[in-house]
Amino acid sequence: MNKTLILIVEDDRPVQNLMITTLKAHDYRYLTAMNAETAVLEASSHNPDIILLDLGLPDMDGIEVIRKIRTWSNVPIIVISARSEDMDKVEALDAGADDYLTKPFSVEELLARLRVTERRLAMSQVEPMASSVFVNGKLKVDYSAGCAYLEDEELHLTPIEYKLLCLLSKNVGKVLTHTFITQNIWGHSWDNDVASLRVFMATLRRKLEKNSESVQYIQTHVGVGYRMMRIE
Ligand code: CA
Repeated sequence: MNKTLILIVEDDRPVQNLMITTLKAHDYRYLTAMNAETAVLEASSHNPDIILLDLGLPDMDGIEVIRKIRTWSNVPIIVISARSEDMDKVEALDAGADDYLTKPFSVEELLARLRVTERRLAMSQVEPMASSVFVNGKLKVDYSAGCAYLEDEELHLTPIEYKLLCLLSKNVGKVLTHTFITQNIWGHSWDNDVASLRVFMATLRRKLEKNSESVQYIQTHVGVGYRMMRIE
């Protein structure tokens, strides 16, 4: 029943094998590429639904692969990087990747990332981006009215908190980097902006997550950025 087609781009055999075994066991279809050139070719000829992309490839930087693919496709890209490549991961997200996994990762982590991405794909098909009202769990953002509601009660947000909420909700399911967010909110990304962002995010979160201990709308990715989660 699950027939999502995944392109695995990974030159490390054991890691590739782990991914293949996992995908097979969960009824995904898959394609593989061991280098960047094949990855771009496979992506263009087979239109995969999701790409798992290792950043350290033998022939080309994984970030270049993202840039190339982004010239014609919005296919979700989940990058895979080693812990030592933290900056690469941020750069990859800024280049248009949707999410990341850090090596070594567990099978559960891989499956969780795929589920988040599939949910986002499914939602983007039923909910066109142009929709003026965004609903996620008990949160509602009415873009045309410029208001946000939680459990039908209007949220009292500062202009920056509201801008942040709009940016996160319009990119629900996607990890947004500090640079991406600050560029969008302030038009630049200085160290100060990242510090302010942390403060605004904390206040926004307090307003958003005050009643519900169990519901977490915004995920923090330490050293990377933030993501709004799609609530079931
Ligand atoms: Ca590699």
